[in-house]
Amino acid sequence: MSCAPYGLGGQVLRLVPFFVEKMINWGILRPPMNASTAPSSSLSLLVSAQRHLYPNYGQPDVIIERGRGARLWDTEGRSYIDLFAGIAVSSLGHAHPRLVQALSDQAGRLLHLSNYYYNAPNIRLAERLCALSGMDRALFCNSGTEAVEVCLKLARRHFYAKGQADRHVVVAFENSFHGRTMGSLAVTGQNKYRDGFGPLGSVRHAPFGDLERTRALMSADVAAVIVEPVQGEGGVIPAPEGFLVGLRALCDEFGAMLILDEVQTGVGRTGPFLAAQHAGVLPDAVALAKGLGAGFPIGAMLCREHLSGALPKGSHGSTYGGNPLASTAALTVLSVLYDDGVLSHANVLSERLVARLEKLVERHAVLSARRGLGMLQGLVLCDGALGPAILTRLRERGVLVTFSGGTTIRLTPPLVISETELDEGLAVLDEVLGEFS
Ligand SMILES: *Cc1c(COP(=O)(O)O)cnc(C)c1O
Repeated sequence: MSCAPYGLGGQVLRLVPFFVEKMINWGILRPPMNASTAPSSSLSLLVSAQRHLYPNYGQPDVIIERGRGARLWDTEGRSYIDLFAGIAVSSLGHAHPRLVQALSDQAGRLLHLSNYYYNAPNIRLAERLCALSGMDRALFCNSGTEAVEVCLKLARRHFYAKGQADRHVVVAFENSFHGRTMGSLAVTGQNKYRDGFGPLGSVRHAPFGDLERTRALMSADVAAVIVEPVQGEGGVIPAPEGFLVGLRALCDEFGAMLILDEVQTGVGRTGPFLAAQHAGVLPDAVALAKGLGAGFPIGAMLCREHLSGALPKGSHGSTYGGNPLASTAALTVLSVLYDDGVLSHANVLSERLVARLEKLVERHAVLSARRGLGMLQGLVLCDGALGPAILTRLRERGVLVTFSGGTTIRLTPPLVISETELDEGLAVLDEVLGEFS
């Protein structure tokens, strides 16, 4: 009789790292010396992960080894359809040939420089981002949280320079997510990220989508309002109709800046370059990251010309910000999305995705709603407690998604995903939801 790979044999195998770890702790086994001398089997890697990685994440016992397009493979040779794209990051999927080529060419030319000198890819990237967003200036960093941080510092410094240093409050929204540095965490409106890190800066939180309650928090001390056009980590909740336009008007009325956190929604994830372009809203500043480098770390703050003097020379910066390799990655991403027609493809496919998800909501009693924009979609569970089990089952069946806001199965496929791959992933989702109904 052969051993079933995912049956009892799999269950027993799963316990092995636990016992290996115990034996190492009891001194019966010697731990691997270091990564390069350790045998490269999945098992020893998992043991090493448990011993050496800081345990602030909750990964399952799976090591992903490589990818191609919207497909991933683990070290055991199992394959997965990627419907999460590394949290809405890997828009070009995995190992996109143009991105691989551009990165390797640039790495062979110039990897890093710092901001002591200009580099051409960075200048061309700033130019292209301004054209796509309607903004005038670009400042680069390495992640979403840093991009948000620059926006917040920009708002403070702008009013300080105008002799209004007492305008220091930021209005943000409940259930929002803006990042994990102390500034971006202060505007984040979810206790699960904030607990234990207070006191955090001067921020007032309004209910997301409620213009009247937001108005009640506005006064002469408000420097900026910061908002996600779709709350991503909060459970894929799009701003209600008229909300962003209303915030723009409130900011104009009270002389405050409107900051958009488009870290998750930007760079075509919801259709247009910025999600706020659905509503025709022009912010004063916008934070981008995730999809911008499609896996290469890069963040950007874009702003309008009237803010170009707010951060004078030396007042803010980043050693790696605008690095030629990161800039090349982002330039290539934009070229593939806009010049190779990938974004048009995604915009057509997202309609199919929405229609399929609506069917799933009709068919499965465990689901209460679909919500989202473009290729950022959520299926809301009636009972959020089922989420982790559904995700585990999907992974066992070879489909990767994420769970956000404690209620919502979030789908953020690579924008390059083919119709066949999408259908294959959604068929498995349909079957798995059936198991839970
Ligand atoms: C992911 C995210 C961030 C933080 O980005 P990091 O790159 O993880 O620092 C900020 N804002 C939003 C809306 C995000 O989705």
